Amino acid sequence: MSDTFIHEIPLKTTPHDEAVLDVRLDAARQLYNACLRESLRRLDLMRESKTYQSARELPKGKARNAAFKTARGFHGFQEYGLHAFAARICKACWLGDHLDAFTIQKVATRAFGAVEQHAYGARGRPRFKRYNWFTSLEGKSNAAGIRWRDDHVLWSGLKMAPLFDIKDKHGVEAHALSCRVKYLRLVKRVIKGNTCWFVQLILEGTAHQKEKNTIDEGTCGLDIGPSTIAIIGEADAVLTRFCDEVIHPWQEIKREQRAQDRSRRATNPDNYGDDGTVKKGSRKWHRSNRYKKRQSRIAECQRKLVATRKKQHGELCNKVMSLGKIIKTEKLSYRSFQKNFGRSVGVRAPGMFVNLLTRKAANAGGSVEQINTRTTKLSQICICGTIEKKPLKQRHHACACGVEAQRDLFSAFLAKHCNNHTLDIHQAKAAWPAAEPLLRRAMLRVTETASRGPVPASFGLNRRQSCSPVKDGSVCVEVVDAVVLPKARREPRRDADPAVRTPWL
Ligand SMILES: [Zn+2]
Repeated sequence: MSDTFIHEIPLKTTPHDEAVLDVRLDAARQLYNACLRESLRRLDLMRESKTYQSARELPKGKARNAAFKTARGFHGFQEYGLHAFAARICKACWLGDHLDAFTIQKVATRAFGAVEQHAYGARGRPRFKRYNWFTSLEGKSNAAGIRWRDDHVLWSGLKMAPLFDIKDKHGVEAHALSCRVKYLRLVKRVIKGNTCWFVQLILEGTAHQKEKNTIDEGTCGLDIGPSTIAIIGEADAVLTRFCDEVIHPWQEIKREQRAQDRSRRATNPDNYGDDGTVKKGSRKWHRSNRYKKRQSRIAECQRKLVATRKKQHGELCNKVMSLGKIIKTEKLSYRSFQKNFGRSVGVRAPGMFVNLLTRKAANAGGSVEQINTRTTKLSQICICGTIEKKPLKQRHHACACGVEAQRDLFSAFLAKHCNNHTLDIHQAKAAWPAAEPLLRRAMLRVTETASRGPVPASFGLNRRQSCSPVKDGSVCVEVVDAVVLPKARREPRRDADPAVRTPWL
């Protein structure tokens, strides 16, 4: 398959277009649910069959695969089998009046794909889509169905004009429009309570690289922490926050949800029993206009979160790639990250970031190597070979051999010198004199930005965190704080007070 990239453009839609699109989207949703039901049924039947059961008993090999294939074919648990099913039901009912053949096939493929992933144990059991939960539709080729003609989107009687980027500062859109269109996807999004439609052009070739996003050919080491990321390349090192703008609005959502609960109780008093719980059985629920507004506010919060994360992940990827496209990083269990450091870390999605980076690096001809942490122990080892376990609060690496550095930057440096899951200690030792000034410069930049606002404790700017002696000056400040405290009746904010911070450089 040839290279593919996507370019998204908002669409100029009339109320009529939107009404038609909504009907088609809902038809597609119902078709999806029907296909999902059918594939799950076929999967269950296949698994119960004798052919499948006897195939399971066979030793791994060609005979076993062939036996499984027979079982799949017999029960129609195949993509094309489902296409035929989808076409049949669309012909027999109203769904066929709203969808074209290609779209029908794509919806069936989507449902089958979800069930197939579930069958292989890669994903959980797929869920049926509720009203309004289905938000995108795609064609199969640019020849028929949803298609791109003369800078317009055509689809069975609809003609929609895209809102082009007039400035197109970096030439991204001009490049995209010059490429061959493979097929189109229509996406519906609700932004600030308004429904907006977008067209995604699935194009042949590679995406335009902005001039400011240069790609370095060299190797770079990466260390991703719960709130920080350290990157070291051939020419520069960076220690920065990891997706600091991604903050989950837990409080805001909770407040809206509590208000919604009160509203629901007030508008549906008959649905609740004396003890305040919902009565059993299906019942009708009235939702006030304010309730609906709150619902859309919650959805907006979540949309913003996803959008911010996507943007920050992209920016960070570009930053990493500008320091080297052969990327080496420790393989971390992002699930344990989430367990140990709380849910705010999960929201930053480090795993998703590494996946994006892997894809972008591969596109640029580079790679991402995930190093085994058990064998390398990058956070414990020094270039002299000493292995010393550091507590998590110790943010500073200081060895008896004279090597000193910030912990994350140092482990990124070590990751850079790993080959085939082992640390090449001689290579690291030889590279250290050249890398040390880079690390020092990175820390200097951090201290400069620190004067503008509080920085995460994991940067290790406050030396007391690293269990090393504190300068005299900061002790004095602490005493002053302690005196002021009873009067002000509040905790001294040590992080925010620049005088307490004692940069280690
Ligand atoms: Zn050492």
